[in-house]
Amino acid sequence: MSKLGPSPVTEYLRRVVEDLRPLTDGTVNNSVPELAAADENIVGIAVATVDGALYQAGDTKLEFCIQSISKAFTYAQALTDRGPEGVFEKIDVEPSGDAFNEISLQPETGRPANPMINAGAIAATSLVRNTSHGTRMERILRLHSRCAGRQLRINKNIQSQEHKAGDRNRALGWLLASRGIIEGDPTGALEDYFGQCSIMLNCVDLARMGATLAAGGRNPVTGERVLDPEVVSDVLSVMSTCGMYDDAGRWAIRVGLPAKSGVSGGVVTVLPGQLAVAVFSPPLDRHGNSVRGVAACERLTKDLDLHFARTE
Ligand code: GLN
Repeated sequence: MSKLGPSPVTEYLRRVVEDLRPLTDGTVNNSVPELAAADENIVGIAVATVDGALYQAGDTKLEFCIQSISKAFTYAQALTDRGPEGVFEKIDVEPSGDAFNEISLQPETGRPANPMINAGAIAATSLVRNTSHGTRMERILRLHSRCAGRQLRINKNIQSQEHKAGDRNRALGWLLASRGIIEGDPTGALEDYFGQCSIMLNCVDLARMGATLAAGGRNPVTGERVLDPEVVSDVLSVMSTCGMYDDAGRWAIRVGLPAKSGVSGGVVTVLPGQLAVAVFSPPLDRHGNSVRGVAACERLTKDLDLHFARTE
């Protein structure tokens, strides 16, 4: 048999995509018009390794807005700017078991339970510093871009839709301000949170971003050190306990790897030291996680034997 032709890994990913297409459960998110208009049939998978290899199948060139996946990267920037203790003072790291937009802060401290729910994410955004190297928003966008290995951009139209639909997030922002978790007026932090949710990327970008985390903070393609290994270790730990919202426990059993999802239908899963898998498919389950994204990660974990708790 000839060894020439598509890589067997690519062939395998193509099979997974074709197997996933008929899965029609779930509904697309309708919190803003741009998301409500998403095509339900889209499925893309990309795998990026820490040595720079990339495998992809399906609709991997289509751009989508990152939504809550940005929470992991903005948290990384907050940790970089304030140090772990400075951030921990304001945001806890315990799974909440609540929905991602739950209006809840810890009664004694006022801290959000973790940085992967909206309350914690808005607090994390507020902790990113404005510096002489750029505004908070520019620095958040730059971090995402450096992890992806190319310049990403914000979709201003989506940002304004997020702003219009943002009453609940504004309520969270003011609640955080009332407890001193955000200092002063939270309006600016909220606007930057809407901006970070509106960063556009495709499946390949997302896989590269995950691979940068898998590689301890060094982008495997550009070679740039983007984040410190200590920061990455904290981010991946929080992703493993809180990245899939109130489905994190079941995710641990089904996939058992750090991951982050967003309501546009993206999911990134990281195997530290090895690779990242990114999936984009808009229909969501009741937790707000991509149905095909979860199914794809489960399938890859099984087929490639990636689950941390499997001994044989
Ligand atoms: N923009 C959405 C929100 O703030 C992001 C939520 C998500 O992706 N889970 O509610």
